[in-house]
Order: sequence, then structure tokens, then C-alpha cells
Amino acid sequence: MGMEEARKLAEEVLGKPSGKASLVKSLFFGRFSNDRLPPLPNLDPLPLLEKLHSIGIDPVQIDRDQNIPDHVIKSLGNLGLLGLTIPESYGGGGASQSTYCRLMEELGALCASTAIFVNAHQSIGLKAILLFGTEEQKKKWLPSLASGEKIAAFSLTEPMAGSDAGGIQTKAVWDSGKKGYILNGTKQWTTNGSIASVLTVMAKTKMEDGKEKVSAFLVPSDSPGLTFTAKALEKVGIRGTRTSNLSFENVFVPQENLLGKLGSGLKVCLTTLDFGRTTFGATCTGLSKKLLEMAKKQAIERIQFGKPLAHFEMVQYKLAKIAAYAAATEATTQLTAALVDQGLEDVMLEAAILKVFASESLWDMIYETMQIFGGRSFFTDLPLERMMRDARLNMIGEGANEVLRVFIGAVGLREVGEALKNPRKWGTFLSQCQLMKGNEKVVMGLQKRIRLFSWQVLYTLARYREGVVEEQFVINRLASKVISLYTLMALLWKGGDKNIIDLYASLAFEQFDHPFIPSHLDPLIKKVANDMTGID
Ligand SMILES: Cc1cc2nc3c(=O)[nH]c(=O)nc-3n(C[C@H](O)[C@H](O)[C@H](O)COP(=O)(O)OP(=O)(O)OC[C@H]3O[C@@H](n4cnc5c(N)ncnc54)[C@H](O)[C@@H]3O)c2cc1C
Repeated sequence: MGMEEARKLAEEVLGKPSGKASLVKSLFFGRFSNDRLPPLPNLDPLPLLEKLHSIGIDPVQIDRDQNIPDHVIKSLGNLGLLGLTIPESYGGGGASQSTYCRLMEELGALCASTAIFVNAHQSIGLKAILLFGTEEQKKKWLPSLASGEKIAAFSLTEPMAGSDAGGIQTKAVWDSGKKGYILNGTKQWTTNGSIASVLTVMAKTKMEDGKEKVSAFLVPSDSPGLTFTAKALEKVGIRGTRTSNLSFENVFVPQENLLGKLGSGLKVCLTTLDFGRTTFGATCTGLSKKLLEMAKKQAIERIQFGKPLAHFEMVQYKLAKIAAYAAATEATTQLTAALVDQGLEDVMLEAAILKVFASESLWDMIYETMQIFGGRSFFTDLPLERMMRDARLNMIGEGANEVLRVFIGAVGLREVGEALKNPRKWGTFLSQCQLMKGNEKVVMGLQKRIRLFSWQVLYTLARYREGVVEEQFVINRLASKVISLYTLMALLWKGGDKNIIDLYASLAFEQFDHPFIPSHLDPLIKKVANDMTGID
């Protein structure tokens, strides 16, 4: 694909570089302003939370049986939790993304399998219908999906196409006689697949110009020719979810089941996954808070060398770090959900950052909590080993973190690169921040890093130009920095314990002072890897 073609595809999928940048895109320009920040959501108290606990979800049994019992799914449906974000006019709860995330936070702390089941159904499975469906499609599918009578799934991944969504091989060929499409191909690892009544399926279609593009289709699971070659694959974690493999053999999909415009499937995917990634953040938040409580209790109660573990400085460091990361994860989830509720269409970078940050922080928090529990953490009477197994998926599902890091860096750079072609479009940069009273020092530090970051962005573009997309060492460093900036911004927005904010700011600023992989190691890393694989 030539540069011009690549640019056109990026525009089609990501939209044209906007003069009106999203919060994170603004950071690439060195802008930092309050007026884009939404008001803090009012989330307490939520009666739904109590109801959620009354269902009797047993995470141990769900993990052991590799199954979420029907009564749990039924109760979730009866309580309206499976259609919480669907508008009331289609039988749903009409709740905001912030409210939904608060609920998913609770569910994430309670049972990761059940949380991923709800995520696959509501955040991505039926979301494409909500976002891109016609009125007829919404009326036909949403009421029964809202009540939980029917379950939805999102089917993109194939044996030969995981991270590279554009490389899918499932084909949908137009049949003018039957007025519909004939689907052939295979899908793997579809969560909820074998219990779903309807699947959002991505397939390649031939366009008028003869080129192939991805399109999205609504496929009922009882369509003749659709078979589940594996109904529930055995897994490391989130073992209660049904992860299925599917095959399509001449499956007929009527024209009215095309979701969104023909050829717009990648945009459907990306936009839908923004919502899934937001709820990933919420479920990680729930578990983070639980880990903080567990780690604190153990550090106070466990006596060694005649003193509680909490006396020892290395344990203190672990506790403080868990507290700081848990607070930042919660704030970033709430800020991202509030941006969605503000009606902002462009939250792709915010959602991607949230997913990467929340999943990696949670993994670190689980590691530190297990260290504090020592040998106790290794036995299955405690939930830590299950939490560890469950949390491992978060770095892989809904976009591997490495791919999202490239996405975050490359999309931000692209915005600045385009704006540089027309310097008149550049606005003012730094505006003062009033919202963050009491944290002026941190805010000043943040402003300094944002300025530094935008200079690095300009330097990167000047040095590598269009070829920057291939420079993953460089892009990853920029991604890590903007992740730190956005998450710190979220924490300042949410407010809270000043010491925790100060600590998190210091940890976030470390990215600028001491990047995890410093640039002078790049050539050496490349050489060692190339010698190993023979691939340049
Ligand atoms: C339990 C489970 C449930 C799932 N549920 C669903 C679902 O409901 N629907 C669905 O469609 N899919 C689902 N998936 C698939 C999931 O989205 C993919 O696993 C994910 O997108 C990564 O694709 P892959 O596993 O094929 O990894 P690959 O694409 O083979 O990549 C492997 C690794 O290579 C690295 N990598 C890849 N590309 C790049 C790059 N460009 N730059 C740098 N590094 C790179 C990353 O570290 C990545 O983890 C599920 C997966 C699992 C494990």
C-alpha cells in the first residue's frame, strides 16, 4: 500500500485529523486546558449495586465449573443489567456510560468471568447495533438483548488475523438473486459465541471499485451453515466465559443485516471497541480497589521479625504504589466515561490509554499484592491466583497493548503532522488551570512535561517524517509519556488524597526522567533480537 492509500485508509477509519482535537490529541500539541474537562459525575449511591450483590455470583464455582450458571445470567437480565446502556425506548435502562462503568467496577471486583461476559454482550456485542444500526435493526434486536432473553457477541478474530483486523479472510459475497450476502470463513475466540443469539461478524466484501473492504453483519446464531467448531475452549483465566470457534459455510445474511455502510467494518470495530476498552478500565478499577484492601490488611496483620509487615520500607513502597495506581485507574476510568457521556465522538485515544494503563497497572498491583502475601498467595483457598489468571487476558483482549501503544503514538503524531502542513490551524497552547486547586505544584510539573512532550513530538516528526510509524521504540516512548500525562490529568480532575496525587505524579514524571527503555539501548536491543531471529 502506498503512502497516499495508507493516508486515505487512516482517514476513513479514524476520521480526518480534527482541528478540534480530543483531550489526549491536544496533549500532542502541548495544549492543556480545563474547558475540555467534563464535570465530575455523581455516582453515589447506586441502588443497582446492592441488587448486583443479591444475585449470589460465586466466582470460585464459576472458575471451577468453567461456566456462568443460567440463574446468574437470568438474574442479571431481570435486574436490567444486561441492557443498562440501551435507551429506554428499546427496553433498556438508558443509563450513562459513567453509571455503567461504576457497575462494571463492582462486577470486576466480584467475578472477572461474569464481568467479561457482560462486557462481551453489552459493551461490544450489541454496541454496534446501538451505534450503527438502522431503526429497524434496533427495534428488532435491542429489546430481547436488553432483557437478557438473547445474548450478543462480537466476532472479529480469525486464525490468520488477530491484531491485524484488516487481514481477515472471511468473505461476504453479494447474491443479487437472494438479495443478501453469502458468508464463508472461520472465526476464533468469540466470547459468548455459543450462547449468543446474534453475532456482530466482520467479513470482507468487494466494493464497486473491485477492492475488498471489511463490513459488519448481524448474523443470527441459528443461521443454516453456521457451526460452532468449539463451544467453550478451556482457558487460563476468565474460565467461566464461553470462548468459541465458528465456521461459516455458505451462510446467507439478508441485506437488511448489514450493519453500518458497506466497507465501513473497521470503523464499526474501532468505535465499538472504544466502549469495550472503557469497561475494561472499570473492571480493572474494581479489582484494584479490592487488592488495595487485601494488601493493607495483610501488611497490618502479618507479623514477622516481631513487627507487622507494614513496618518494612519495601512493603510500604508496595502499599503506596498500589494505592497510587488504584486511584489513577479509577480516575482515568471515570474521566474517560464522563467524556463519552459528554457526547464526544472522538475518545479513541483516551479509551486506548485507559485500557493499556488499567491492565498493566492491575498486573503490577497483583504482583505486589502476591508478594505481600508471600507463600499464602500461591494456594487456591485465596482468590489471588485466580485474580492473576483472570487479569492476564486484559493485556491481550480487545487489542494487544503493544498494538494499542503504536495506535496511541501514531494517531497523535498524525494529528500534529497534518496540522504542521497548515500552521495557521495551530491555536494557543497552554492555558492556565483553575480546577486543580491545592495541587499547583503538580499542575506546574504537568504543564512542564506536556510542553516537553510536544517538543519531543515535533522533533520526532521532523526526524522520521512519514516513516515514523515503523519506529516502534520511539512511538512506544511517546505512548508511555502521554499515558502518564492523561492519567495524571485524570487524577487531578478527580481530586482526592493530596499525598497520593503527589506520589502518582512523581511516578508518572519518571517516564520523562528515566524512560523504561532508554533510547541508547535501541540499537543494541535490535541487534540482539535480529541475531536471534534472523529477521530485521
Ligand atoms: C479469552 C479471549 C477472549 C477473546 N474474545 C474475543 C471476542 O469476543 N471477539 C473477538 O473478535 N476476538 C476475541 N479475542 C481475540 C483477541 O482480541 C486477540 O487475541 C487480540 O486481538 C490479539 O490477537 P492475537 O491473539 O491473534 O495476537 P497476534 O496478532 O498474533 O499478536 C501476538 C502479539 O504480538 C505483538 N504484536 C502484534 N502486532 C504487533 C505490532 N504491530 N506491533 C507490535 N507488537 C505486535 C503483541 O504483543 C501481541 O500480543 C479473544 C481472545 C482471548 C484470549
